Amino acid sequence: MGKTLLQKVWDLHKVRTLPTGQTQLFIGLHLIHEVTTPQAFDALRERGWRVARPDRTFGTVDHIVPTRQRQRPFLDVMAEDMIASLERNARDFGIPLYDIGDDRQGIVHVIGPELGLTQPGMTIACGDSHTSTHGAFGAVAFGIGTSQVRDVLASQCLAIEPLKVRRIRIAGQLPNGVYAKDVILTIIQRLGVGGGNGYAYEYAGDTIERMSMDERMTVCNMSIEGGARVGYVNPDETTFTYMEGRPFAPQGEAFARAKTWWRSIASDSDAVYDDEVEIRAAELTPVVTWGVNPGQSIGIEGKVPTPGGADQQSVADALGYMGLTAGQAIAGMKVDVAFIGSCTNGRLSDLREAARIVRGHRVANGVKALVVPGSVAVQRAAEREGLDATFRDAGFDWRDAGCSMCLGMNPDKLEGNQVCAASSNRNFKGRQGSPTGRTLLMSPAMVAAAAITGVVSDVRELLAESPAGVR
Ligand code: SF4
Repeated sequence: MGKTLLQKVWDLHKVRTLPTGQTQLFIGLHLIHEVTTPQAFDALRERGWRVARPDRTFGTVDHIVPTRQRQRPFLDVMAEDMIASLERNARDFGIPLYDIGDDRQGIVHVIGPELGLTQPGMTIACGDSHTSTHGAFGAVAFGIGTSQVRDVLASQCLAIEPLKVRRIRIAGQLPNGVYAKDVILTIIQRLGVGGGNGYAYEYAGDTIERMSMDERMTVCNMSIEGGARVGYVNPDETTFTYMEGRPFAPQGEAFARAKTWWRSIASDSDAVYDDEVEIRAAELTPVVTWGVNPGQSIGIEGKVPTPGGADQQSVADALGYMGLTAGQAIAGMKVDVAFIGSCTNGRLSDLREAARIVRGHRVANGVKALVVPGSVAVQRAAEREGLDATFRDAGFDWRDAGCSMCLGMNPDKLEGNQVCAASSNRNFKGRQGSPTGRTLLMSPAMVAAAAITGVVSDVRELLAESPAGVR
């Protein structure tokens, strides 16, 4: 009987079964950042321990970094302390750090793939929930908490419960104006935010096979929002083409040998899955969240639900928080802020698609709009293409790389109960820095459409207005 990629990677990295029933897994790559590491390094110091594999540990700064005015020390004392602490820890423990001012700095889940650190068949851990992003390469990538960061630093191993595998096959051509973000929001809406508990999600089908690596990363990134511990796509030629020549990828003949091995870790054609789900791409439309978790979403032509049934209370609470009336159309809801960025949708292809919508338009009066590239590399590439000028001409702020308004741990925060059209991944209450701020998740193209109309809008209508071939 064949094996899934998850089973193969698991077996290859298994150290032993622990008395708890968990597996002790060797971690091939540990990515660290400023927010979830200070206490972990403190714990190592208290015990006089060293980092087990500094050669397999890489750091960057993303969560708290300002996206403009980056002079040190930062005005925010806590942010300055966090970044100074990571700098000291990286120095003391011999870990490479891509800091402010380094061309390799950026959101941890954007720079790992860019640098070729993320590779098929690897086990990867990082103290951020959206580490599942790296699964796009056929890696098994876990978001971990601070105590697990300590464990991985000290032992390069992670204790983790075995997982079942659900294959989610998406078949067919995505309609115009429907993106990878709409695919994953639809999956979470259909299967529920807890639907993936205990599972790894394997994304398959010709829709996924046709996707670029950027798009696959968007899909895998939000696996965790559907409750799945990890999400992955089997590596293929698209993966290898993306990886070739990246600084940390194998070079020359080693790359050819690596490709052979990477192909071998893909799920076998006769692998058996614990569950299978099929989704038809042709049925999908642009999706917007209306509530306070990523599963509370509807198609752009839809109406927000009326409380009823088992989830009556949660629907009523969410509608109340969002200031929506039961049965109201989501299209036309006024937005105050438009945010394009994050590890879900802050890559070059995201910015290109949003710029395509924005070109020739102006941000609506009263809307604050910002574009925050996911990394310095994305920023530079976008600037070479003139995308920064497109956004600036339209009235957007063009910022430096970081997490920014994904979670508002930096100066980019919502104020009061502002409504934000966001290309990020979480719409929890208070997620974007204001305890009463309201987040509507959608694709970057949909955020661009909301920015220029001032309301939640169907991007397909704007695409229809674009001159053919203009990108
Ligand atoms: S962009 Fe958001 S989800 Fe991604 S690493 Fe930063 S804070 Fe985490």
